Amino acid sequence: MMNCKQATRLLSDAQERPLSLKEKMALSVHTTLCSACRHFGKQMGVIRHLSRQFAQGEPTEPPANPPKDEPK
Ligand SMILES: [Zn+2]
Repeated sequence: MMNCKQATRLLSDAQERPLSLKEKMALSVHTTLCSACRHFGKQMGVIRHLSRQFAQGEPTEPPANPPKDEPK
């Protein structure tokens, strides 16, 4: 079984890249047995949720040139 260092590393990595099935399985086994890493993973999820909300709250760029009738 992976240790806590490896588990937290994977939890961080999961924010930046999709984990492989093997990594997800190993992480899930670890977090089932380890409440510390389960808690850490939960916090990472909250951070991801908040940053996503922040990203959605960003004002979007207005279209530079709205399509109009082309001059002839
Ligand atoms: Zn752990």
